[in-house]
Amino acid sequence: MVRTPIYFDNNATTRTDPRVVEAMLPYFTEFFGNAASTTHAFGRKARQAVEQARAAFAKGIGAATPSEIVFTSGATESDNLAIKGAAYAYREKGDHLITCLTEHKAVLDTCKHLEHEGFAVTYLKPQPDGLIGLEELEQAMTDRTILVSIMHANNEIGVLQDIGAIGKLCQEKGVLFHSDAAQSLGKVPFDAQALHVDLASFTAHKIYGPKNAGALYVRKSDPAVNLALQMHGGGHEGGMRSGTLNVPGIVGLATALELCLQEIDWERDRLERMCRRLLEGLKAALPGICLNGHPTRRAPGNLSLCFPGLDAGSLMLGLNDVAVSAGSACNTGSAAPSYVLKAIGMSDEAARSTLRFGLGRFNTEAEVEQVIARFAEYARRAPVRLTKAG
Ligand SMILES: *Cc1c(COP(=O)(O)O)cnc(C)c1O
Repeated sequence: MVRTPIYFDNNATTRTDPRVVEAMLPYFTEFFGNAASTTHAFGRKARQAVEQARAAFAKGIGAATPSEIVFTSGATESDNLAIKGAAYAYREKGDHLITCLTEHKAVLDTCKHLEHEGFAVTYLKPQPDGLIGLEELEQAMTDRTILVSIMHANNEIGVLQDIGAIGKLCQEKGVLFHSDAAQSLGKVPFDAQALHVDLASFTAHKIYGPKNAGALYVRKSDPAVNLALQMHGGGHEGGMRSGTLNVPGIVGLATALELCLQEIDWERDRLERMCRRLLEGLKAALPGICLNGHPTRRAPGNLSLCFPGLDAGSLMLGLNDVAVSAGSACNTGSAAPSYVLKAIGMSDEAARSTLRFGLGRFNTEAEVEQVIARFAEYARRAPVRLTKAG
């Protein structure tokens, strides 16, 4: 028997892996010291855990040195620090930023704020498959451009941008490159040096770690990136981000990444197999379903599916023991169709007919079969006519 409700919303957040919780626990009750209070053993123990986590995390993302990691409260904060921090630090050099219409709100709204502050921002429109054209990006660059921010995996449609090629182009043009890698971390390899990334945002709660723990990668050489600080105070994190360190969260973040990397190939195969089966099963139950975004260049576990002629909200109500999402978690509550789906050229109607399935570590093949069966049952119960995909 499959336990319900079934959680297929792993792009919104994930269950914390019990092994991660286990690693975090001692840092609440036993080693509770302030990592900045290194005059005594309590603080030194906490500091040691933080530095161990920093080294492990740096290695896991291909940073050159642990000091390139700034611990934050999550990807929203990392995006803000990277984009505002670079914009203000390089204002003398230029006032132009480039991003894309399908970015997370943490990037888009930060850019909007900078527009009010006098910066100019180009929002690239992706191709219908969700990918950014390299020529378009190059054409958008001017001698005033200081930063390009393009995400790795998209949180709604799962497509993986070719950030290696984007990073190389930015390097050639002498423009800084930031990538929000919250959705790709631990799922596909990420190597900051090989990908020519200067700044990258991460969060623990998308990789089976705790909420409110994350990191920003800040390149220290070729070039060394300057950031204007966004949080003033005690000068923690090399002065980049003040505030008493969340020691259990930091330990959780590093442990979560290590666990993902141990199983990365195996887990990728498993998730891809489950997604293939889910898509095939749903298509058999409800012909006419189509996959949004590029068919193969995507983060494992994500399926954004359009059910033409059906309303996503009613579908979710009809299948109330399957937790999926109509858009991204961050924008629900708004009745407007997803701006991500609109940006890849979908109509309001097609966008409103889309469900996002996010499979993860704790999902099983039996759950996939159960969800297929629930959809098939729904299709029989409510005689649906799928309109032609469009
Ligand atoms: C979840 C997510 C964020 C926000 O991360 P938080 O840690 O929740 O602040 C930012 N960007 C992307 C792509 C995400 O998926």
